[in-house]
Amino acid sequence: VTRAWPARSGPASESTFDVIDPATLEIVGTVQEHDRAFAHEALDRASAALHAWGTTPPRDRSEILRRVFELLHRDRESLAVLVCRENGKSLTDAVAEVTYAADFFRWFSEECVRSAGNYGESPAGGSRSIIRHRPAGVAALITPWNFPVAMAARKLAPALAAGCTAVLKPAAETPLSALALADLIQEAGAPKGVVEVITTTDAPGVVASLLGDARVRKISFTGSTGVGRTLLRQAADRVLNSSMELGGNAAFVVTEDADLERAVDGAMFAKFRNGGQACTAANRFYVHESVAAEFVAAFGERVERLVLGPASEGADIGPLINQRAVDRVTAVVDGALREGARVAHRTKLPSAPGYFYPATVLTHVPQSAAILGEELFGPVAPVVTYSDETELLEQINGTEYGLAAYVYSRDTGRAISLAERVDAGMVAINRASVSDPSAPFGGVKQSGLGREGGREGIEAYQETQFLSVAW
Ligand code: NAD
Repeated sequence: VTRAWPARSGPASESTFDVIDPATLEIVGTVQEHDRAFAHEALDRASAALHAWGTTPPRDRSEILRRVFELLHRDRESLAVLVCRENGKSLTDAVAEVTYAADFFRWFSEECVRSAGNYGESPAGGSRSIIRHRPAGVAALITPWNFPVAMAARKLAPALAAGCTAVLKPAAETPLSALALADLIQEAGAPKGVVEVITTTDAPGVVASLLGDARVRKISFTGSTGVGRTLLRQAADRVLNSSMELGGNAAFVVTEDADLERAVDGAMFAKFRNGGQACTAANRFYVHESVAAEFVAAFGERVERLVLGPASEGADIGPLINQRAVDRVTAVVDGALREGARVAHRTKLPSAPGYFYPATVLTHVPQSAAILGEELFGPVAPVVTYSDETELLEQINGTEYGLAAYVYSRDTGRAISLAERVDAGMVAINRASVSDPSAPFGGVKQSGLGREGGREGIEAYQETQFLSVAW
């Protein structure tokens, strides 16, 4: 696959870079290496398209978004295979991702025609207040490799619904899915310039130059907390409207009265979806001491049955994204083992040459272990036992992160009471997923600013305007 975006009349960039399948190390495709000059041209096109798109009747924008939803379903299988190849995830995970991505276009096609405003009489009398929302402007969207279609969809759908145009910079590991999505958006009827895609291995340089350009009025970033901090500093120079979806360190709590079968099912999904490379992935397991042995035995048995390998061979989980990720997870697990943790269960490694790390359950993890404070981003489940709920909450809340958490208990009231005291933007109760296009997704503390999805999702791409009218 060799891709250029957009199809340009002038000479294409001479420089390119390869996209690698992390399961087989084969080259999946080649894309253009865009530089800062290209980024400015992309911005020229996005700025030129802004006024017409922002004043296109919401119903017309809505119908284009709805059509993207339909096209994503039409191409669901082929797009999922592309995601598998450049990201390495299993086909089941990739199909689920494309379905989830499509749902954002459906949801925001519906929100697009319901932009609420307000009208009132000023308390002092003599004037009326009209409150309206207008598109924030050209949006710079920066996305990670772990959900290459869904993370782009979660930004593009609300941005376009609000009337913004967008310059999307996908991760260099997974640019092909983003280009394919942009193609579908164009096929659905979005005019040229409404979505621009920049493929580059120089993210720091290209993004900094975008953020330095006064035409960009919004940044929405999904990625690591460290890069998020850097971008917030750059955004501060131009007081940019900023949304940040950053790292997580989700606790997965199993209380003594939990339905253990259900908790094990949930643990498998919350931990091993995407090979653990999800911001909402269960990162640390807190299991009540009275049920810990039973939980670990049942969980471990399921983990040992997981098949690691390339998606093309029907594997349950794929590789990590690159060798750096394997080295990082290895170092964190080795550190935990030095602190007293034990490997209780582990899958076999496949013969494929990719960046595989075995699915692993660690027990005897001390409550002070460094592994519990870090975002693992891999298929490793450290299990800690607890006995006291107050101490449990101190531990769960004792990190810089606050994205997601999971609570399993048969007593829903108790689970809700626990969930309300967890410092996290999202808590799943007796279920293993918090992702829902109709609900606000996002974190507190250093897991981010703002929300994607729900009503809040579109507001992130709007500015409020107040008209004070002498009556
Ligand atoms: P990353 O921060 O390394 O990269 C994310 C994006 O930023 C990529 O497009 C990358 O090219 C770009 N980038 C990297 N350095 C940059 C810089 N200095 N300036 C500008 N852009 C830069 O993250 P990643 O490894 O791609 O993704 C994993 C991280 O993303 C994890 O921390 C995960 O928790 C987080 N994530 C969060 C959410 C969420 O919704 N909260 C969702 C998915 C992933």
